[in-house]
Amino acid sequence: MICIYVARQRYDAYLVADRMNQAGIRAHVFNEHASSIAGDLPPDVVQPQVWLADDNDVPRAQALLRSMEADAQRTTPLYCRHCGEQSPGNFELCWNCGAAIG
Ligand SMILES: [Zn+2]
Repeated sequence: MICIYVARQRYDAYLVADRMNQAGIRAHVFNEHASSIAGDLPPDVVQPQVWLADDNDVPRAQALLRSMEADAQRTTPLYCRHCGEQSPGNFELCWNCGAAIG
């Protein structure tokens, strides 16, 4: 297991893990709920993290991350009218509640 990515937003971690899994890379999100239970821990300790099951996938995962970062710069985040969570501009459904957005 190896941590490949530390996300600033929960949706960001899920987006990365989803893309990894779609590409055949086994990825998991950790710390997704840590911010609610962590209390006094500094933010960088409780940010959502994406971990790879197989260390050999690191080069492919890093290439995927770079292409995702390039994509992200072309999209504007959207806010769900149902639950208020932020989703990437290329999402059609809210990652959090499944409501249609955009
Ligand atoms: Zn929502």
